Amino acid sequence: MRHPCLTCGACCAHFRVSFHWSEADASLGGTVPIELTEPLRRHERVMRGTSQPSPRCIALDAEIGVRSRCSIHPIRPSVCAAVPASWEFGAPSPQCDKSRIAHGLAPLTPADWAWDEAANDGDDPDDNGNLPPIAA
Ligand code: SF4
Ligand code: SF4
Repeated sequence: MRHPCLTCGACCAHFRVSFHWSEADASLGGTVPIELTEPLRRHERVMRGTSQPSPRCIALDAEIGVRSRCSIHPIRPSVCAAVPASWEFGAPSPQCDKSRIAHGLAPLTPADWAWDEAANDGDDPDDNGNLPPIAA
């Protein structure tokens, strides 16, 4: 089972992604590439592309609902890492659900995180680290 976010990307094309400016200031230990951001309010910067009527983050490499990756994943803003996918940790995520619905995708369910032998014929563990059932 692939992580559902890898075939989604909806939340990166739905919200304004703003954060404290220091996250894009390398001299203060910030990691977000400042050229991918723009100023917002006094103490904030925003990911380019997300402060517009139809947001889409400049760092998003995706076909929404088909494939998705954040091109700066290890150094993305903290606010991005703080958005959980629905049911990844046992609870729904309003931000995730709202984003998916806005892009015509069904909200995730607990079943999206459970190993389903019928839907998985590879040898990869699912996102929770569960391995495929081993034939006796
Ligand atoms: S909307 Fe939910 S499933 Fe889609 S990328 Fe964001 S957190 Fe993942
Ligand atoms: S920085 Fe990455 S995770 Fe954050 S909104 Fe942009 S593409 Fe999505």
